[in-house]
Amino acid sequence: MANLILISNRLSVSVEKKKGGFEFKASMGGLATGLSSLEHSDRLLWIGWPGLPADDLSEADSRKIASTLKKHHNSIPVELSREDLRTFYYGFCNNVIWPLFHYFPSYATYDNSFWESYRGVNSIFLQKVLEAVKADDTIWIHDYQLMLLPRLIREKVPEARIGYFLHIPFPSFEIFRLLPWRNEILTGLLGADLIGFHAYDYARHFVSSVRRLLGVENNMGYVQHEHRLSRVDVFPMGIDYQKYSAALSKPDVRRQMAEAARELRGFKVILSVDRLDYTKGIPERLRAFELLLEHNPKYREKVVLLLIAVPSRTKVHRYRALKKEVDELISTINGKYGTIGWVPIHYFYRGFPFDRLSAFYGVADVLLVTPLRDGMNLVAKEFVAAKKLSGGVLILSETAGSAREMGEALLINPNNSEEIAAALCTALEMERSEQIERNTVMNERLSRYDIGTWTKDFLNKLSQVREVQDSYLVKKLSGAFKDELMKAYRKAVRRLIILDYDGTLVSFQDRPRKAAPDEELVDLLKALSEDPGNDVVVASGRMRDVMNEWFGNLPLSLIACHGAWLKHKEREWQLSEELSNQWKEQLRPIFQLFKDRTPGSTVEEKEYALAWHYRNAEPELAAIRASEFKDILFSFTGDLNLDVLEGKSVLEIKPVNVSKARAVSTWLSRDNWQFIMAAGDDNNDEVMFSQLPASAYSIKIGLDISEARYYLDSPKQLRQLLNEVIV
Ligand code: UDP
Repeated sequence: MANLILISNRLSVSVEKKKGGFEFKASMGGLATGLSSLEHSDRLLWIGWPGLPADDLSEADSRKIASTLKKHHNSIPVELSREDLRTFYYGFCNNVIWPLFHYFPSYATYDNSFWESYRGVNSIFLQKVLEAVKADDTIWIHDYQLMLLPRLIREKVPEARIGYFLHIPFPSFEIFRLLPWRNEILTGLLGADLIGFHAYDYARHFVSSVRRLLGVENNMGYVQHEHRLSRVDVFPMGIDYQKYSAALSKPDVRRQMAEAARELRGFKVILSVDRLDYTKGIPERLRAFELLLEHNPKYREKVVLLLIAVPSRTKVHRYRALKKEVDELISTINGKYGTIGWVPIHYFYRGFPFDRLSAFYGVADVLLVTPLRDGMNLVAKEFVAAKKLSGGVLILSETAGSAREMGEALLINPNNSEEIAAALCTALEMERSEQIERNTVMNERLSRYDIGTWTKDFLNKLSQVREVQDSYLVKKLSGAFKDELMKAYRKAVRRLIILDYDGTLVSFQDRPRKAAPDEELVDLLKALSEDPGNDVVVASGRMRDVMNEWFGNLPLSLIACHGAWLKHKEREWQLSEELSNQWKEQLRPIFQLFKDRTPGSTVEEKEYALAWHYRNAEPELAAIRASEFKDILFSFTGDLNLDVLEGKSVLEIKPVNVSKARAVSTWLSRDNWQFIMAAGDDNNDEVMFSQLPASAYSIKIGLDISEARYYLDSPKQLRQLLNEVIV
């Protein structure tokens, strides 16, 4: 039976030392609940740290723990020492990634020893995975502690099915670029087949960083890196909807609600629940509450704030400092506004179990969730599910991942205390019917995309990615396909070989002239074209004079200017047909304008075409400009009989009747070819591929959706193939 292997920093069961032995406490977190609703037959296996430093355990203890975890909890423990925890967990995870990814760059400490430890611990996880994984297993890695693991596994088990989910935000490129080890993190993640995020913005930031730092484009959510496709997608994590929507009808919860209501004596209740973390905006929230009391005396002795702050990372200095700040703010506000019969803020510095927390949800009129940044925020979703029928208002920070799905909440900017205070007034005054109306809409969403659906959705997408990858694999020109091509080549007497130039025979360069053919390529084309059975055509968008300079001495046929000019071996250049250039006067100023508005871009004037190159421009600006430019160009093309060509980082305009496909067709009808091969890398070559006979060997360079029958990864691989056919 195949395993579904879940890998996270912490196991879902934690081990504690107790007198005379160990206690195993299973926590039914969201993920475990989601997985329990899966109908598939795979066996679950968890890999993670069980919560005790390895230094505290004898070898016998470790063996005993491992055996109990395996037997009763389907879990494999990862052993981490105190030093690992200091440098990996507190160091790299919580002092570098956590602050940076939550937009607190000044809190990040770029210590190389932390990074080394992060790499080391990811390798420790790798060893555990390698000991457990079988060929048809599915691996699902969770969160920011293990961003190198996908690639580490991929290197050892290339065929592994790997999913990765990031539970915190992925920051914008301007923040992510600050990380000294940014490329390693990106390539680490790209080892996965599917990379999931809570929100579209995080996915967008990730692909933008991949584009800018690794130079890899994303195509409809697919990123090709080192000859593999990875899918990037969005899966906003849901909650256990059944559990939370039924919470307030549990007798135990009702009893605790009644008790709390008695103690609260009719005060309106504003609830606040988070871990005590600087990303959660707790001091800002307290200031907003103070503003509410200051500007609205009518709420004094009428409203209380129940502030639940769950202790977190208490060993980290910044968290201790935050605790001090929060403690002080609370005593200041309580000291300033409190009366004998009324304490404005009730403060709980501890966590509560489900029933008690649900009772708090039950008695609250308002839930105040104001993180400065939060990957998702489940508390907001749980509250709305619990308050489905009874009303209750959610005030939610627009910078929490869950805000994207909860537009009916009162959305606020967490840095704007005035706005939060105003939202509190609105919430406290809101009619019950409106509260229920808003919550009903949110509940519909929460019930549809609950934790079970989330889990299934992710795992289904992971299978789909494999199908897409497999469909590409079928087309890779290697193994049996390559043997067949070789055989057909050898058997044929008359062969037509059509080769695009840039991106096909040579890689792209920052300046077009730098992509001149090297000696090896010239020798290769010479050998190929000197074979009397071959007609080799180099078909390019480049100009005649450049093609002459590079290939004029070889017995090659040439197509220049996308098909405007044709040259059959030693004969003279021929114009494909009479062409006009009058349109250029009208369009040249527009090309110049876009060049000026897009630093780094250039305009190239060809005999019968104008091209705007943006390879060296800032990629995101260029993408916006290119789409604007395309719209403008398309509006001219109909009237002027022109065609817009979209190449790789180039937009080009040329007469409609100039085309590579047309030019190629003259060669197709020239002889009775027994072997036809055509290679190309961009959109212009697609039309050429589509008009070739079915028996032709069409080859796309680069993994992409294509009309071609096969693909090769790079110009280097095409050259290898050509070298093999000529021997
Ligand atoms: N939680 C709890 N007891 C508490 C406070 C919080 O069980 O006293 C739970 C809460 O129900 C939620 C989780 O802790 O499921 C917090 O998740 P969230 O996404 O809101 O914040 P995170 O701590 O992951 O940043």
